[in-house]
This record gives sequence, C-alpha cells and structure tokens, in this order.
Amino acid sequence: MGRRIAVIGAGAAGMTAAIWAARAGAQVTVYERNDRVGKKLLSTGNGRCNFSNERMSAACYRGSGAALVDAVYAGFDVRRTKEFFEELGMRIKDRDGYLYPASGQAATVLDVLRYEMKRLAVDVHTCAQVTAVQVKRPRFSVEAGEDGRETYDAVILACGGRAAPGTGSDGQGFRLAKMLGHHIVPTVPALVALRCREDFFRRVAGVRCEAKLTLYIDGRAVCADTGELQWTDYGISGIPVFQLSREAAYALRDKRSVTVEIDLLPDLGDAAAERRFWEQRWERQEGQTAEQFVTGLVNKKLGLLLLKLAGIRESERAADVPASGRRKLEKLCRCLTVTVQGTNPFEQAQVCAGGVDCAEVTETLESRIVPQLYFAGEILDIDGICGGYNLQWAWSSGAAAGRAAAGA
Ligand SMILES: Cc1cc2nc3c(=O)[nH]c(=O)nc-3n(C[C@H](O)[C@H](O)[C@H](O)COP(=O)(O)OP(=O)(O)OC[C@H]3O[C@@H](n4cnc5c(N)ncnc54)[C@H](O)[C@@H]3O)c2cc1C
Repeated sequence: MGRRIAVIGAGAAGMTAAIWAARAGAQVTVYERNDRVGKKLLSTGNGRCNFSNERMSAACYRGSGAALVDAVYAGFDVRRTKEFFEELGMRIKDRDGYLYPASGQAATVLDVLRYEMKRLAVDVHTCAQVTAVQVKRPRFSVEAGEDGRETYDAVILACGGRAAPGTGSDGQGFRLAKMLGHHIVPTVPALVALRCREDFFRRVAGVRCEAKLTLYIDGRAVCADTGELQWTDYGISGIPVFQLSREAAYALRDKRSVTVEIDLLPDLGDAAAERRFWEQRWERQEGQTAEQFVTGLVNKKLGLLLLKLAGIRESERAADVPASGRRKLEKLCRCLTVTVQGTNPFEQAQVCAGGVDCAEVTETLESRIVPQLYFAGEILDIDGICGGYNLQWAWSSGAAAGRAAAGA
C-alpha cells in the first residue's frame, strides 16, 4: 500500500499536490474547510482564469521563495503545466503569452482537477477544517473537527495565505505552520488597489487611461509599470497599480512615505520630442480655451482636473495662459504625484505577500524543521506579479510537494 498523505487545503496548490501524490502511488486524503473545493479558482482572471504565462522567470517573483523558483520550475514548468491540463482535456487559449482555458471559464480548470482527483480515488473531505497537526514520529496526527483524528506518513500544508478570506484562506495555515515550529514572514495584501490622500479622486472616479506609474518610497524611485490605470473615488487601481502594490504595502507597514508619480503621456518620447509637441500644441490651439486645449490630450475629466491643479481657468484663452501656467500643466501631465495612505484590505487583494519563511524549506518544499512536512502554494513566502504567475507557482509547487511527499 502507498504512503498515506494528508493535503490540507483544496485550492490550486492542494489539488495539484493531491493529484501528483496519487499518481505516484500514494493514498491521499484532502481536507477542505469550505463545502466545496477550489472556490478561489472560480474568481481568478475575472472568471476566466489566467492560469499561467509564457514569459516566465524567477524575476517575476518576490519574497524568500523567489530563490526556489528555478529549482521548483525545473521539475514542473509552464510547458509541463500546459501538457498537464491538455492531458486532462482542457484546450488552452494563448492571449499574447497570457494563458487561459479556451472555454473562457475558470470553472473548466476546477472541473478537470476535480475529475482527475476522482479518477485517482483521492479521498476529499469538504467542510473539514483542520485545527491541529501534531508530529507523532515517524507519523503525523491530523485533527479536523467532526472528521476526528487520523494519522499520516506525510502532510502537505496548502492552506493559502490571507488574500480573499471569503474563499477560505484566512491565515489558518500560518497558525498550523507556527504550531509545527515555522516562522512566518509578516504578511501584507498584494496585487491590490492603493488608497490615496488627495481630495480630487471623486472628480475622476471611473476614468481608465494608459499611464506609466513610478512608486517612490521615502523619495526614492523603487519600481515602475505601464498599463491601464483605473481611477477610483479613493485612489488608484488597475494592473500597473497592482504590480507596485506589494512594495507599497511593506513600505506603509514600516511607516515610510509612499508616493506614486503618474505619467499620463508615457509615449511622448525624449525631452526634445516632448518640447516640440508642447510648442506645436500651444501654437495650434492658441485661439481656443484651456478646456479645448486639454480636450483630446488626455481623458476629459482628467484634463479638467489638471487645469484646476495648474490654476488655469477652463474658459481662459490658451494664448493668455502664462508660461508658468503652461509649464505647470505640462509637468502635471507627465508627473502627477499622489500620496499613498494605505492599500485595500486582504478582502480585496489577489494575493498575500509574506508567509512561511522559505529558508526553512528545501527545494522539494519539505520542511527543514519537521521531516515529511511539505508546503505548496501561497502559504509560502512568495508572491508573483499579476499575469498568471501566482497560479503557476501553485501548480509547480503543488506538483513538487505532491511527488516528493509520495516519495517519487
Ligand atoms: C480575485 C482573484 C483573482 C485572481 N486571479 C488570478 C489569475 O488570474 N492568475 C493567477 O495566477 N492568480 C490569480 N489570483 C491568485 C491565485 O488565485 C492564488 O495565488 C492561488 O489560487 C493560490 O492557491 P493556493 O492553493 O495556494 O491557495 P487557495 O486558493 O487560497 O487555497 C487554500 C485552500 O485551503 C483551504 N484551507 C485553509 N485553511 C484550512 C484549514 N485549516 N483546513 C482545511 N482547509 C483549509 C481554503 O479554504 C482554500 O480552499 C487571483 C486571486 C484572487 C483573489
């Protein structure tokens, strides 16, 4: 008979771990506190599940686990992930390197994983919240409410982090890991919107525009991203904001000053090209009002806000705007600074940065503290950028932990 393995948490990582452990001949039991498996998967990629990305590298990951990416992906990379899902019957759609199920439904990803667990006779317990894992060398005792206590040869903790706790991952895994002697790197919400101090956000809420964003911490530029910026009534959101959010969240946690510079005309070219652009525009539109001057330059609501911030009346003739006002407006277009006061909470975050310190796990994701205890997915201190990277980590780490726990 195969080794008895308990997988705690039936998210993307836990289900993958269960499948690979069972394929390697183990007898696998999965514990899931929700009444069904894979709840979070259904909301990924706006219901379409961006499950991976062709442009993959360790540089797309942060946290102590980033150092493990190359070793873990050597065993189960993007190509192997595509094969895995194709073998399960899922056709794949490649949108400029971003990978989705061709059905357009995140539910497909969940369904094929569920079917495979069933085919492999994985014993899935739902409404089964694990409250304690104890080491009874050489085995483990797992306690799960009404399901009582069971013993296993190996345990895989795949409880997720704290992001989107409504889907089941509310930090309980960290408590279990701590009980087993592990350290937790402080957690913050990541891939999340930023809340800002300025009082003008209500005027531009709902606007979406292309922009380049640069994050400054204590006045030093830390990282930048370009993409579709979404203005909300409390601050900024959208993918380029998400990409900067984990650095902002840790800086705010450390009580450092955090600002974002927004370039609303990122494609204007070098300084000489920019100068020519402005000179031509002021010259061509000198007979028009300031309102007309900003029309077509940027989104209308943003244009009117910029005029206000530059101290220019909408009805003022462009020709009458003094050089100082012109330079101010031009600068605001390229460098509108907003002050970040906070992030949205874990409830609205896509991932949780921080988690089980990866210095305490091996390249097969086995604990260095408790032999035969493994980790997979977001419970570890690793978080990827937006674009399929977090799910790829769930698949790759799940496969690694599942195989290793089964002794494959
Ligand atoms: C809205 C949203 C959209 C996203 N979109 C994408 C995307 O398009 N692409 C991408 O790559 N990533 C995306 N992500 C991130 C990605 O979904 C996660 O990184 C990934 O699902 C984490 O998988 P996991 O298995 O580690 O954890 P989870 O999916 O959080 O699963 C953990 C499971 O463990 C269970 N559990 C916890 N504690 C216990 C316990 N004590 N006993 C029993 N069960 C327990 C939970 O109920 C849960 O089902 C998105 C996240 C969100 C919230």
